[in-house]
Amino acid sequence: MSRRQLPANVQAFLDREHTLLVGGRWQGAGTERIDVINPADGERIASIANASREVTAARDAFTGGPWRSTAPAERAALLRRAAALVEANAEELAYLETLDNGKPLAISRSVDVGAAVGALNYFAGWADKIHGTTHNVSMPGEHHAFTLREPVGVAALIVPWNYPIVMAAMKLGPALAAGCTCILKPAEDTSLTAIRLCELFMEAGLPDGVLNLVTGYGHTAGAALAEHPDVDKVAFTGSTATGKAIVRAAAGNLKKVTLELGGKSPNIILADADLEKAIPAAAMAVFFNAGQTCTAATRVYVQNAIYDQVVEGLAEVAKNTKVAHGFDPDAVIGPLISARQLERVQGYVDRGRQEGGEVVYGGAQIGVAGYFFQPTVIGETRNDMTIVREEIFGPVIAAQRFDSIEEVVALANDSTYGLSSSVWTQNISHGHRIARELVTGQVGINTAMVADWDLPVGGYRQSGWGRENGFDAVENYLQTKAVAVAL
Ligand code: NAD
Repeated sequence: MSRRQLPANVQAFLDREHTLLVGGRWQGAGTERIDVINPADGERIASIANASREVTAARDAFTGGPWRSTAPAERAALLRRAAALVEANAEELAYLETLDNGKPLAISRSVDVGAAVGALNYFAGWADKIHGTTHNVSMPGEHHAFTLREPVGVAALIVPWNYPIVMAAMKLGPALAAGCTCILKPAEDTSLTAIRLCELFMEAGLPDGVLNLVTGYGHTAGAALAEHPDVDKVAFTGSTATGKAIVRAAAGNLKKVTLELGGKSPNIILADADLEKAIPAAAMAVFFNAGQTCTAATRVYVQNAIYDQVVEGLAEVAKNTKVAHGFDPDAVIGPLISARQLERVQGYVDRGRQEGGEVVYGGAQIGVAGYFFQPTVIGETRNDMTIVREEIFGPVIAAQRFDSIEEVVALANDSTYGLSSSVWTQNISHGHRIARELVTGQVGINTAMVADWDLPVGGYRQSGWGRENGFDAVENYLQTKAVAVAL
């Protein structure tokens, strides 16, 4: 679809001058702008403000606002109104996501915008269910002792480019439900739906200054938030390297930090697995979103007896997965996010070949316009290979053989990461035993999908700190005050 055929409201949004949202006012277009590139053709479609030190201008909006004293039921109602507005504007948001990120329009509609609505409604449900506890204390004298759960304060929400509107909503939901004020910092590659989402929050009636938006580069705008003395908490999703930089920057005022970082998730397929289900699920657990998913199960361990059959099956799925422009109705996956990411993925595949991997299918860019990459299956990999150790963030499976359960558990756990894992078997005891042994924050048994707003997600090891989703996510934005009254 050419730009001329875009829906009028989408075109009008692209043509607007996009600024920052500070203290309830859209302001600060700045002189230096960042081009917004459509990854499907490399063309510029808009520009966003490049905030750096202007971040400090948001300071006044952080304090003294009305949000923390707003009645919980009203906070819930506001989140629900925002969810309803996202739903009412779903088509426009889906187009913007596809133009900005490249993913197929059908996925932007059903997965991304749909999930953003789900997240806001889910966390609205927690806003009026936050409460402390009473305690029978043994201090000398007679006391009434209880706890208050209070918002942490100003929360900086720094999100990546792989699921832009979902990541924004899944952080804004619990932060606002808890009573925090927020500064949202979307990725420089994908800021459009964040801008539109903030407009919809303002339309929903959010008081001025409760939600601020800062667009810009990570090393400037993001870093300024991570070190800012008026920011009390950082919630970050992105790479492990950036997560470590944020922890160092946050040390200045000892901000609370939660991190949802990278992964190199293992998927274990035992010889007794139902392969009709396991093979397509294992393939799509990596190829979905062009492999740009933190939980992508990129290390596929296959028991020797079925190794050839599984690898052939994965290659068959790769071959039949339509990679196309997000506006192509048959597209299953779109392009990678940027030229830089394309180069990175190609570099890893080349390294895999050099280190002895066998490229069974794929391994190359598709076409010359845009950043499309073939779904790729590399077989005969080993745990000491770079492509088995490092996060690629592209549609690349590294398949490896194993013989025994003890061996595969050791191989799966031999990683600096610990985000997610799956095991496929028809022996339910094997499934449960392996699930207990795996050092990851979530495990799927006979499913690659462990995703629900009520299920905590987060990493062991260097995959992160804290959990998102469920009440765990709301707790990230709360602190506990103990109060004792001498009677
Ligand atoms: P990144 O982690 O650098 O960027 C994510 C977000 O952090 C963006 O909003 C960015 O502007 C911001 N950021 C960057 N540097 C910052 C800093 N010093 N302080 C504060 N904020 C900062 O990710 P990337 O460079 O865009 O991608 C590189 C790799 O990260 C990918 O190839 C992939 O392996 C991984 N990644 C993981 C996830 C995930 O969901 N776990 C998401 C995106 C990228």
